[in-house]
Amino acid sequence: GPSATPKPTVYVLDPFKPQVIEFVQQHFDAILPGTPGHQDWRAKAQYLLIRSSYLTAQDVDNCPNLLAIGKQGVGIDKIDAAACAARGIKIFNTPGVNARAVAELVLALASSVARCTGAITRRQNAGKPVPKETCKGLILHKRPIGVIGMGNIGKTVATIFRGAYEAPIIAYDPYMPADAWSDLPHTRVSSIEKLLRASDIVSVHVPLTDSTRNLIALPELRLIGPEGIVINTARGGIVNEADLESAVREGIIWGAGLDCHEQEPPTQERYGSLWMENVVSTPHIGAATEQTQIETGMAAAQRLHEYIAA
Ligand code: NAD
Repeated sequence: GPSATPKPTVYVLDPFKPQVIEFVQQHFDAILPGTPGHQDWRAKAQYLLIRSSYLTAQDVDNCPNLLAIGKQGVGIDKIDAAACAARGIKIFNTPGVNARAVAELVLALASSVARCTGAITRRQNAGKPVPKETCKGLILHKRPIGVIGMGNIGKTVATIFRGAYEAPIIAYDPYMPADAWSDLPHTRVSSIEKLLRASDIVSVHVPLTDSTRNLIALPELRLIGPEGIVINTARGGIVNEADLESAVREGIIWGAGLDCHEQEPPTQERYGSLWMENVVSTPHIGAATEQTQIETGMAAAQRLHEYIAA
């Protein structure tokens, strides 16, 4: 019979779910972290499979043979995409696959911020019963939500809030075609300022780039107003953290839900002063469901496999 073609070698830089490793070992000569030869990945790798590792321009320089990267998840801000593009190195991420998980977390964070469930749970767990007169809350029904970034997650968030809270949807994304979201009732605005003025909840769903860093700072927070809730499940730094802290402290907005921080994982030392009654913070768990980790890992491995096989 035909002699078996040798399987392509793929260096795996991060831990992946067992189902993903099984796929990878079936289709590739997979070199896993901590196994012999893995430390030579820069000198040798043509193909990489990445979940959370950084790949800097210098790494790319040091990888003379690199052709393609499978990347679990949608954000590629830890990979120097420009350095890859200059060398024609392909990046296969998994847009859309984790949208549901992240969007459900947005609902969880906003609902928790509105009723201060995080802080109330902490107070209760500390020992004494919590008098309900000391608990404040907001109704979310029909509160307009502003969605910045009309991609996969933004659209799922809009759909969920419409269903759960009958929320009017305000959307902003200068890069999406005019007929985007034609199947979802919403108001599309031409500036962030218009979105902020019209919204009570503001949720960011844009990639972190030079132009989205500090997209939401104190002037923007003032426009949302005292019943405003800001949700950042996109990337740390898109919402200015120091400004957010003063805005919550001074009642310029109601509160915030943050899955992404400039320092990750977020620590008490760095963020203790931000973690007020109306702030809920999680350590980048947007895609951290078992199902999502399997689906995104499989999608990255499959996209890489399809590319190599083509
Ligand atoms: P996507 O590519 O489908 O959508 C991003 C949208 O942002 C695009 O429509 C793009 O046109 C728009 N955009 C870019 N720059 C903009 C700007 N300056 N103003 C307005 N819109 C702009 O991506 P997605 O799947 O929706 O994910 C969005 C982001 O969420 C990712 O880039 C990633 O950083 C983050 N994310 C976080 C987690 C988590 O675990 N918390 C998981 C997945 C993704």
